[in-house]
Amino acid sequence: MTNDKEERKRRDLTVAENYHLWVACGGMCSFDGCRKRLIESTSGELTNVGIKAHIIGHAKNSARHEYMEEYDFTYETLEDVRNLMLMCYDHSKIIDDKKTRDLFPPGLLFTMKEKHENWVSSWSADKKESIALIHKRTGGPLFDIEYESPAPYILLDAVENQTVFDDFTKEGWEEGKKSNEILYQKFIEKIREKGAKVGEIFPLSPIPLLVHLGSLLTDTVSYSIYQFDREAGQWVSDSTKSNKDIDLRVSKEINHKKELAVLVSISGIVKMDSVMEVVTGEFDSIRFDIDNPGLKRLIYRDDVIFVQSRIKDEIEKLLQHQEYNKIHLFYAGPAGLAIELGRGINPNIWSEICLYHYNNRTNPKYQYALSI
Ligand SMILES: [Zn+2]
Repeated sequence: MTNDKEERKRRDLTVAENYHLWVACGGMCSFDGCRKRLIESTSGELTNVGIKAHIIGHAKNSARHEYMEEYDFTYETLEDVRNLMLMCYDHSKIIDDKKTRDLFPPGLLFTMKEKHENWVSSWSADKKESIALIHKRTGGPLFDIEYESPAPYILLDAVENQTVFDDFTKEGWEEGKKSNEILYQKFIEKIREKGAKVGEIFPLSPIPLLVHLGSLLTDTVSYSIYQFDREAGQWVSDSTKSNKDIDLRVSKEINHKKELAVLVSISGIVKMDSVMEVVTGEFDSIRFDIDNPGLKRLIYRDDVIFVQSRIKDEIEKLLQHQEYNKIHLFYAGPAGLAIELGRGINPNIWSEICLYHYNNRTNPKYQYALSI
């Protein structure tokens, strides 16, 4: 009777204990060799889905419960962090399943936990804690975050907007701007609340929304902006594979007009004809071209930063000598660079920036979306 009562008394972990467990495990599955990141999107909500697996089970018939006394635990102390391992769903099932649990005696799991936590602490000694922002409004939602290489930060939590953007009307774009602002607020609050040092951004959305999102990012923390490598199905950032020899050509046609068109051709070519279909008055223009534009031309961080700073410098040089009422940005390039371009916009120097959405099937191909 008393035993039954005691058995039922499972205390909840304190916030501090939960946090400790998450950080000790690096936010990754502790099962030998798995290391899966434990933030997932389930039914449209991002959650920390690590399962707190008991090494010695709490309920009477649960896995390894019979070892409780041998390992000096009581019903109360079974909830201590030293008896818990964070695991992905699959591995938490394997160690508890009646058919497989015998393969995982307490000694093996305590060793596994220790090994994983030691690896995390050597790995995380110089790792900063981060919050992720997933902005994926094209294609279907992502359910987890797969990196090309070992995760560069300890991911504490995430915010997301993965609702497909399909209202290309004026109202639709306005709504897109509003939801960007709301998402950004949520992101900053999470960063403050958790004391994170880095924001990790995973963008795959219509370009005007990404440039706008970039313009919202203030330098509260440093940001790491990823690009999606579609072939590999992974997010990439730093790599020794960056091109570094990217040759960005700049050409201008300046006749002291009141408006400026900026043409950026990285993943495809922005044709002057398409620009003239939508910017009807006379305008000056500046264009940026690389050799062999294509989807995979610019996916690594060094290349993105290089191109972003060249574009920013050239435009600001121009703005020192010219007064423009409007700047029209026509952009064919990767999502990460779109965010970086937005970040580079200095409202004290730049005038109103009109952003366009490209659709091969509409006529004209570029349609005005929104202004910053
Ligand atoms: Zn796992």
